[in-house]
Amino acid sequence: MNWTVDAPVEELPTLPPLPPDLRARLDDALARPAAQQPDWPDPEHVAHVRTVLESVPPVVLPPEIDRLHERLASVANGEAFLLQGGDCAETFQDNTEPHIRATIRTLLQMAIVLTYGASLPVVKVGRIAGQYAKPRSAPVDALGLPSYRGDIVNSITPDPRARIPDPSRMVRAYANASAAMNLVRALTATGEADLTMVHDWNKDFVRNSRAGERFEAIAAEIERALRFMDACGVDDHNLHNVEFYASHEALLLDYERALLRLDTRSGPALYDLSAHFVWIGERTRQLDGAHIAFAELLSNPIGLKIGPSTTPEQAVEYVERLDPHGRPGRLTMISRMGSGKVRDLLPPIVEKVEASGHKVIWQCDPMHGNTVESASGYKTRHFDRVVDEVQGFFEVHHGLGSHPGGIHVEVTGEDVTECMGGAQEISDADLSGRYETACDPRLNTQQSLELAFLIAEMLRG
Ligand code: PEP
Ligand code: MN
Repeated sequence: MNWTVDAPVEELPTLPPLPPDLRARLDDALARPAAQQPDWPDPEHVAHVRTVLESVPPVVLPPEIDRLHERLASVANGEAFLLQGGDCAETFQDNTEPHIRATIRTLLQMAIVLTYGASLPVVKVGRIAGQYAKPRSAPVDALGLPSYRGDIVNSITPDPRARIPDPSRMVRAYANASAAMNLVRALTATGEADLTMVHDWNKDFVRNSRAGERFEAIAAEIERALRFMDACGVDDHNLHNVEFYASHEALLLDYERALLRLDTRSGPALYDLSAHFVWIGERTRQLDGAHIAFAELLSNPIGLKIGPSTTPEQAVEYVERLDPHGRPGRLTMISRMGSGKVRDLLPPIVEKVEASGHKVIWQCDPMHGNTVESASGYKTRHFDRVVDEVQGFFEVHHGLGSHPGGIHVEVTGEDVTECMGGAQEISDADLSGRYETACDPRLNTQQSLELAFLIAEMLRG
């Protein structure tokens, strides 16, 4: 199977036509050292693909991005909570209706529980419709083959030829992202998001899962709240539809730069229309590198992963670079410290950034600091460590009086066995049963809901 986009490359101008100052800044950003980029075998082919992608219809539009920006401003101001989640690495093969539907369903189920727990609106963002590029810790894998870098770059098939970076995969990634986004839009506008229905799924979870018993009380409270609204005759649009946004790591610069579009509604502004929200990863956040300079130029809201090596001084430097105008919600600081470190490392960072006056979103990624190799050799995470990092994150913010703004998780709506623990007590021996991730281990449906209920308990104090 292959995808093509038949734009007449020979006739196309280089896009977007930019005002000279923006052009100069973009050229400067792209000239900087960029970590984690593939060694494309044929640079001319890359330029050709970029030209195609510079002309295709965008995956999202600037007004949608602006609306998300407003929602994120509420999060930054302590008036909303941000739920972001999905696959570690989406794949072309799993870009199917059941897979996407299951991811959305799980995130919506989590969102209802969190909305109730936080008594705040929950902004919903998927790692979806474009999460195809992966940074790797080593250039070769355990078999000695060039590492898989995500479907947008090479194939996961363990064969040296399949691992050669192929620029035409960027066109496939675009086509897959567009198809996924189309389904996401349709699902979230046609009843999949109906509050009563999503709550019914949660009731099934409470009834049928081992973790359920503990959460019966919360589920019953939500039930009563829904009946109360119904009795009052409340039938708002928001009970049947949701706003759902798409995000991915802005890692592969040849792809991201080709989806840049100039918006002139109110002065020239550069948007990355490959997604509503993009983030810079832990491995590409060099202050003098291309990714940070690229992110600086975007009008999208931006995320930044910060791991244990981040100093409070660096954190402030990031905030000043990425939020120069002090716009609430522009920057989401996604801490991924590890459950053993979050309580020590996060407070000085939060204190220094809050003292700078910038209103960032503090979001907890409890996954990436807690990855271990199991005795049987699987890359896994223990559910208890994930919960503990979230707990530590809440403790830190409650202690400092800052807003614990959200969570960023790797989850799937499928019954996989990738993370250990949870009420299902997935053990090392169980991991081989359904270990299907193309990259990092995800919480399965039950573990995801269990986490949401536990967070709801934390939010209620
Ligand atoms: C990821 O989110 O999948 C990822 C690679 O995270 P990090 O950059 O925090 O390691
Ligand atoms: Mn990951």
